[in-house]
Amino acid sequence: MPKLDLIELQRFVPAGIKYRLKPYYRKIFSNKLVVLLNPTWRCNYRCSYCCIVTKFAYTSVVPKAGERSGQEWLQGLEKLPPALIYLCGGEPFVYADLPLLVNNLPEKHSLVGIVTNLSQPTSVYRKIERKIHLNASFHREHTDGPEFLAKIKELSPHFHIQVNIVATPENLLVLEQIADELHAAGVELHVDPYVDIGFHYTPDQLRILHKHITPDRQPESQLDYDDYSPKRCSAGRNYINFSPDGSAYTCQGGMNFLHSPLHAGMAQGRELGYFRVGNLFDQDFQLNKEDVLCSMPCNIACDRDSTIIRAEQLVRS
Ligand code: SF4
Repeated sequence: MPKLDLIELQRFVPAGIKYRLKPYYRKIFSNKLVVLLNPTWRCNYRCSYCCIVTKFAYTSVVPKAGERSGQEWLQGLEKLPPALIYLCGGEPFVYADLPLLVNNLPEKHSLVGIVTNLSQPTSVYRKIERKIHLNASFHREHTDGPEFLAKIKELSPHFHIQVNIVATPENLLVLEQIADELHAAGVELHVDPYVDIGFHYTPDQLRILHKHITPDRQPESQLDYDDYSPKRCSAGRNYINFSPDGSAYTCQGGMNFLHSPLHAGMAQGRELGYFRVGNLFDQDFQLNKEDVLCSMPCNIACDRDSTIIRAEQLVRS
């Protein structure tokens, strides 16, 4: 079966349709491997709401010196079955080997896209020789609308660009205006609920949010930090997260429970070992053969997008 060209697909499927289809992705492609690869945790921004850089610095887990080179990743990725690969971080474009990694990605893999804050010089982006999808994160604490839009216009001939924004309470106040400006510029906007332990939207905020979020986002269930019910989950089998040193985790949520002090209260006294899946660069590295039984709240959007999660009925003896 010819390899599905996701870039072509993304270019021609209107965003609205794409997000209506997304929740059904795993019904169609139940075993397709989805990889979230974080080549670096470093970033040039310090967004107040960021759980990777500002609220907790993942560079304390894997600093620059611990990052794998682009050549190492190319060799490591050869070990995996054909996968859909998503590059995030940190800010991937501060990782010097990104062009090497992207321009030479093993043929069997498809690059779904790269998350970026669009802050690097255009010359850095232009080192990417393929027309790929950029998920441009609009961080208003570090850039303004006109500057951000100007960068999108400059890069649009070379990349398929869609904008993502986190619906913080501050961003909610101007979301209508941002949506209108991007729409007028012909740029797709995707809105992600703001996930922060204990944070809940007010009814008024939810009303604004629901006008802009797409069917792939359910803030009510996503922001349930108390759901410790047992879940059978495909993370680790058809979905894997790689840290910059090659450490493999079932999911971003699992990485947070294991490393982030922000999640220490939720993780305390809980079995968390199943979130670890070794290291891609270990000789004996392999994906999980079975789904895991997870009893932790599942709050991270990309984790929920890429996994099959079923409620597990535990049989009481
Ligand atoms: S249910 Fe969520 S937190 Fe648990 S393993 Fe699956 S993706 Fe990770």
